Amino acid sequence: MRKYTTVIGLEIHAELLTETKIFCACKNTFGDAENSSCCPVCIGLPGALPVINHRAVELTVAAGLSFGCEISRYTVWDRKNYFYPDLAKAYQISQLYAPLCIGGGVTVGGRFIRLNRIHLEEDAGKLIHSRGGVKIDYNRAGVPLIEIVTEPDLRSAEEATEFVERVRRTLVYAGVSDGKMEQGSLRVDANVSVMPEGTDVYGTRTEIKNINSFRFIKSAIEFEAARQSELIESGGRVVQETRRYDEASGETFSMRSKEDAHDYRYFPDPDILPLIITDADVEKIASGLDESPEKRLNRYAGYGISAIDCETVLANKIIADFFDAVVAGGIEPTEAVNAVKGELMRCFNAAENKDGLPVSAEDFIKGLKLVAEQKISRNGFKESVNHMFFERKSLDAVLEEYKLVIKEDRGLIDGAVAAVIAENPKALRQYKDGDQKVFGYFVGQCARLLKGAAQMSTIQAVLKEALDKA
Ligand SMILES: [Zn+2]
Repeated sequence: MRKYTTVIGLEIHAELLTETKIFCACKNTFGDAENSSCCPVCIGLPGALPVINHRAVELTVAAGLSFGCEISRYTVWDRKNYFYPDLAKAYQISQLYAPLCIGGGVTVGGRFIRLNRIHLEEDAGKLIHSRGGVKIDYNRAGVPLIEIVTEPDLRSAEEATEFVERVRRTLVYAGVSDGKMEQGSLRVDANVSVMPEGTDVYGTRTEIKNINSFRFIKSAIEFEAARQSELIESGGRVVQETRRYDEASGETFSMRSKEDAHDYRYFPDPDILPLIITDADVEKIASGLDESPEKRLNRYAGYGISAIDCETVLANKIIADFFDAVVAGGIEPTEAVNAVKGELMRCFNAAENKDGLPVSAEDFIKGLKLVAEQKISRNGFKESVNHMFFERKSLDAVLEEYKLVIKEDRGLIDGAVAAVIAENPKALRQYKDGDQKVFGYFVGQCARLLKGAAQMSTIQAVLKEALDKA
């Protein structure tokens, strides 16, 4: 069998983080009671008129700037006509002829993957299939959605997966989308074709619709590329069509023949005025953008943090923002990364709610400074972060409640030191014979007995004095 190269182009749909929907004042939320966030506009009642939500336009421009796109200064809206029960007015307001963002790209593993465009449109409602029949929830109808369309530059399922992760991360950092694939905020359509290795003529492509997890992107593309190359090898021909990925079987199935733009009878929407975007508008949006993950990566590398640690911190913006706050609070970056990676992320990974952190950076910094001053032990710090995180208490409250501050009770320390020396005559002899290494053993035994009730430096000093006298 000949070898084949896989050619992939993606369409990534990302819901925007606006307060309200794109053409009405309904709330843009996830998980509310079915059809509780709807109005005549978003369910398409006759005579209801749409009004553009400018925040959605700003976020689309922010996405475009993050990917180095050219921002259109004049944009219009088109009606894409088709009938489906989740689309009550039988057309979707989208942008075919004048998308908001043009060009741009994302570098993945050293290769530049070109974007064709990013346009803004409205999401459709959601069909809920159950045994009793099909229900329709229109809460999602009219949620602002951007579609990021790539050129067919991706060459493997892994590369496509990595690309989507990069795009997701950039959108989250720019505050454009929450990027939650499990809630459908980010959905991927993959256009896949194959061509014999060494040739450069693209084969016929199929489109796999609505892939909703990173794992499925990889397996769906791999299955489809293998299916096409086997088909060609056995003398068959790939048909241009839309396919569905079945998660249970790991296979793709034909849904319908692929439609072209003219099938949708696009025409300019007469209800919405064209939009003019000025240089000042673009500059304002650019100046409000948070530092991109790529820029943060460079900054972190300058701190002397390992590449793996940089990726660990950057993988979640909540963690990265917290890390930045800890460094800004005067903690050495290498110390901060260890503490964030260790104490904080242990709790974060175990937490159910990952929408925020219940520990303030101020308390975290204060705790680390107390460790440096030997007022609490490292273990005491770890314990206090755990209590702060899961009991939602302040550092002061936790230190008080769990008695984590080192007391430095001299009588207690003297007693522990005497007891440890008395219990270890053999080690004492070794020490007296000049074996310095055994000192560490004594320190460890005393620390265990004192359980954080004394500073390390005090234990060492008292112990040294006692050993020399013994
Ligand atoms: Zn509405």
